[in-house]
Amino acid sequence: MSKTMKALQFNRPTKTLKLKEIPIPKVEKGDDVLVKVVYCGICGTDLHAIKANYPTAEHDVTLGHEICGVVSEIGADVKTLKVGDKVTVDPYRGCYKCRYCAGGNPQYCLHEGPKNALGFFRDGGWAEYCLAPAQQVHVVPESMGLGLDLACLVETLSTIQHGVDRIGMVPHDANVLIIGAGIIGILYACIFHLHGHKNVIISEPSNERRARIDVLELGYKAMAPDQTREMMAKAAENLDAYGLDYVVDCSGYAPAVEEAFQWLRKGGRLCIFGVAPPTARISIAPNQMFHKELMILGTLTNPFCYPKATALTAAMGARYLAYDKLAIQTFDLKDYEKALSSLASGVISKAVFKFSE
Ligand SMILES: [Zn+2]
Ligand SMILES: [Zn+2]
Repeated sequence: MSKTMKALQFNRPTKTLKLKEIPIPKVEKGDDVLVKVVYCGICGTDLHAIKANYPTAEHDVTLGHEICGVVSEIGADVKTLKVGDKVTVDPYRGCYKCRYCAGGNPQYCLHEGPKNALGFFRDGGWAEYCLAPAQQVHVVPESMGLGLDLACLVETLSTIQHGVDRIGMVPHDANVLIIGAGIIGILYACIFHLHGHKNVIISEPSNERRARIDVLELGYKAMAPDQTREMMAKAAENLDAYGLDYVVDCSGYAPAVEEAFQWLRKGGRLCIFGVAPPTARISIAPNQMFHKELMILGTLTNPFCYPKATALTAAMGARYLAYDKLAIQTFDLKDYEKALSSLASGVISKAVFKFSE
């Protein structure tokens, strides 16, 4: 095995990415797992990270947190994995000692969590190999019949799984509005469809993104915001009959969230998945929250969601997740500039680096 590998590293002070030849990380600790990366996604957060608009290490760090591949080497204490296992890597872990971890919420961890994530603070998966603690490496059981291309979506789906857990059981007569048809909005729509929901609409300004919903043949209307507004103005005349039970924001666009909030009917819930700018504000009527018993839920990362999300990914399968249906494109690591610019311009919904197996 060659002792070096290609890795795409980010230098925060200069806001530059560099494709480097660096040593393959060594298995040193008992719980170390060396993963031969096969696919690693690029997500919207990475686009923020490379502009230094998202927290990352000050030292050179390999980005990439949607990691899947094959176990190449394990430390002496690793009992749950073996060389050759197909795996996904959870970028996050908790310290499991602080008050938040002890309360079952490692996503708020005072010491780890997003503050020490793989692909942001520790070397991630935009490289031929990635070293991770066994605790963060999850087997994709052969019996699931899940290919590594789809397994690369487990990280994204794990964060959505957490949102689904937060939202709770959605009755089948519920009216649902998804704001935004980027990859997250599309995947939420697919999950509602997988669960048999009929009354789902998606509001999205981009024609191209709305067309991606149509390709999936979910039977859901993807509407421009003007159309949504027109439809909901009629609904607002009788919210008890036509109002929304769930609004899932996947846009981070505060004015759309504020507008949709008034369309919730009694018992309605607003789930905030999209990342709005820190300065964005919405105005809501506490009186309406009281009378309608409305709830607003945030959703952050993916605590304890990997095993469930792996099963969810397998359940969705190629019916929903085939790359061509979702407008996902694979790239060689050396073509990273094209991958990043294609994703940023919106001509694709997601870019994924593919490495030789
Ligand atoms: Zn991400
Ligand atoms: Zn903690």
